[in-house]
Amino acid sequence: MATRTQIFREILREYDGLRTEKVAELRERKAMLYARLPRLEEIEREMSLLGTKTARLVLGGTADPQEMIDQLKKEQKILEQERSEILAANHLSPKLLEVEYVCPKCKDTGYIGTEQCICLKRHLMDKLYDQSNVRDMIKVENFDNFDFSLYSGVQSREEGISPKGNAEKLYRRALAFVEEFGNGANLLIYGGTGLGKTFLCNCIAKDLLEKGHTVLYLTAGQLFRKLEEQRFHKDDDEEDAKDWDQELLEAELLIIDDLGTEFSTIFTASELFRIVNDRKLAKKAVVISTNLGPTELMSLYSDRVTSRFLGEFEQMKFFGEDIRIIKKYQR
Ligand SMILES: [Zn+2]
Repeated sequence: MATRTQIFREILREYDGLRTEKVAELRERKAMLYARLPRLEEIEREMSLLGTKTARLVLGGTADPQEMIDQLKKEQKILEQERSEILAANHLSPKLLEVEYVCPKCKDTGYIGTEQCICLKRHLMDKLYDQSNVRDMIKVENFDNFDFSLYSGVQSREEGISPKGNAEKLYRRALAFVEEFGNGANLLIYGGTGLGKTFLCNCIAKDLLEKGHTVLYLTAGQLFRKLEEQRFHKDDDEEDAKDWDQELLEAELLIIDDLGTEFSTIFTASELFRIVNDRKLAKKAVVISTNLGPTELMSLYSDRVTSRFLGEFEQMKFFGEDIRIIKKYQR
């Protein structure tokens, strides 16, 4: 995964390329036009001469350049007028003689003064989305669409709160996570299937991407498949393995969704522990969604390892059995 700075540089390089291309297009257009209407080329040459003269006057410190400058401006106007008439007589748009920028606001530089142009911000966002893996999901799954009415409002005696009240609590916690992002918090969202864990992960991904953070979203299945591939073909592609390790580290947030039965071999567990630990050292956040509760996790591995692992996470439990929720959130 590219870092934000790398993405940024890549975009500015694209802008450079685009401008070069647009200027070349103009040159070709002019060549064709001037072949047909040579007077237009003369006008351009004369105008550029006037420009040079004006500049020389301004810089040259002549006693009273103002009068001459006014004179040059007048000549310039006359030439512009003639050019407009030629174009109009031939039914041609004056735009033919201008660079045709994709974004006229910033002239494809990405900047208006020192401010980033909206087009640059949009490009940056696009690339962040592209590499996050979540583009399609978060169109429909985001904080705005979280539907509390799907949860039962009846208090659970065991939990001391209703599934609905609990979902609201978790929703607020997820919002705060986004707001305070970068303060070292990691989330472990757990609970039964189809209760909104993935949905909440997507909400978090979307808001952070929108704030310009890098997010990498992987299902546990994708993550472990890739890690296993690397382990068993290590000699083939050591560079590739290094890149992948780097990628797992670079995103500001790594989301591992739907951790379940994959997490049952020594290999997958130790890899997961390693990733969480490496990311902690790099001060990068992790959000995990899983249908395994802390008790189940504890029963899979030694208490010592698991407690240390769980100690890195704030635990957020979904509960409830509303069939409507299951229908909406299940995948
Ligand atoms: Zn722009």
